[in-house]
Amino acid sequence: MATVTTISPIDGSTLQTYEAADWAVIDAVLDRAVTAQQRWASRPVGDRTELLRAVAGILRGDRERHAALITAEMGKPITESLAEVDKCARNCDVVAEEAPGWLADRELASDARRSWVAAEPLGVVFAVMPWNYPFWQVIRFACAALVAGNAGVLKHSPNVTGCALALADVFAKAGAPDALFQTVVIAEADVPEVVPRIIADDRVAAVTLTGSERAGSAVGAAAGKALKKSLLELGGSDPFVVLADADLDHTVAQAVRSRFGNGGQSCIAAKRFVVVDEIADEFVARLSPAVARLRLGDPADPDTQVGPMARPDLLAALHAQVQASVREGAELVTGGKSVGTYYLPTILDRVTPNMTAATEETFGPVAAILRARDDDQAVEMANATAYGLGCSVWGEPAHALAVGRRIRSGALFVNAMVASDPRLPFGGIRRSGHGRELAADGVREFTNQRTVYVG
Ligand code: NAP
Repeated sequence: MATVTTISPIDGSTLQTYEAADWAVIDAVLDRAVTAQQRWASRPVGDRTELLRAVAGILRGDRERHAALITAEMGKPITESLAEVDKCARNCDVVAEEAPGWLADRELASDARRSWVAAEPLGVVFAVMPWNYPFWQVIRFACAALVAGNAGVLKHSPNVTGCALALADVFAKAGAPDALFQTVVIAEADVPEVVPRIIADDRVAAVTLTGSERAGSAVGAAAGKALKKSLLELGGSDPFVVLADADLDHTVAQAVRSRFGNGGQSCIAAKRFVVVDEIADEFVARLSPAVARLRLGDPADPDTQVGPMARPDLLAALHAQVQASVREGAELVTGGKSVGTYYLPTILDRVTPNMTAATEETFGPVAAILRARDDDQAVEMANATAYGLGCSVWGEPAHALAVGRRIRSGALFVNAMVASDPRLPFGGIRRSGHGRELAADGVREFTNQRTVYVG
């Protein structure tokens, strides 16, 4: 019998071992999901929004326990885990409030007596999710899919299996119909074979994945082969562009939050700091003490600002990227080494666009600073990436907006760090994936936008 074992990111000790599903179990899960979805789709949207309000209530009522589980399994500081649970509840509220409008018929003028677009569910949506925001990534897909009348089947990262099962429990406690939202635990060795098999299965209508490019490419290929809809939210190497007229007090404080929140393990973290020469020395002089002051420690301690890396292999990969960048000529300002399972918050200065820290996604507490001659070169450097998730530009607002419009990304933030907001669509372009989550656009992704024509 295959199993999945969760490991403490702090000391590598075993947290729990879970039985993994074989195909017979998955087969039954899919059968039950189809039945649940058919019944759910016939329920009015008010019933579906009521479920989301109940989910919000369960999340809030049990926030400490859920947050402690997130912290125990993937190591983020407890204050951030609590904020994650709160944000999940808020997303439930927003979707519950707005979805009836988002899903309403959209009347369109034509030669018909009446013509409109109806938002109908797709069926069973399969979700493959990552560990870095183990509740949030799941809730943002589940709210959108379920409110539109779909059922959800979740395959989570193995290191957050406890969170995956806790989420299924949240939906059950909130009164979700049996099998409307199910979790399948799949042994890591089985993933390359079993995930495409699930995607190809006739009982599955669509797949959504949040994860790395490697996983996105595998899941996208399987969906393409089966001619099914896929939504891919992948990696990023977001530029954080600092112009000569930026307010440095505000900018530096937000730079620290954007790069070092969640231990740097966020797809929309600022990863490349493109700073114009005129203020680059001053920016680095202010950033380095702020970074050196970050408190590492037990993630369960509310004073801790940076926890351990989620897994030892991720720590080793990050360190190799830092070492490669230094060999390529980057200047190590602070950090650059691990202490046990922690990676010291690191700044690399004088990074150039072809160095490892600029070409690859750095998924941990490492800030790469690229110095630009002027605005034009800053735009060129910001665009010198295969990714295109978010981008932030800091400076006098009209100036920063004008510069930001020249940078390619799924989201542009001016004088604010890139962050997801339940009221705004979220997603990337190029190697950061395709499709949108959150808000009306996110809900519509999981619908058949059906044209109806009455002559
Ligand atoms: P990952 O290794 O790609 O894993 C994500 C999920 O994909 C896991 O459930 C994983 O399962 C599964 N997976 C991996 N290889 C697969 C394959 N060949 N076929 C099918 N499924 C596969 O990513 P991660 O390390 O957990 O997360 C970090 C990455 O996610 C970063 O690149 C980050 O930028 C990205 N991310 C993007 C967003 C966004 O919204 N754009 C948000 C958060 C994170 P196993 O682990 O069992 O293989």
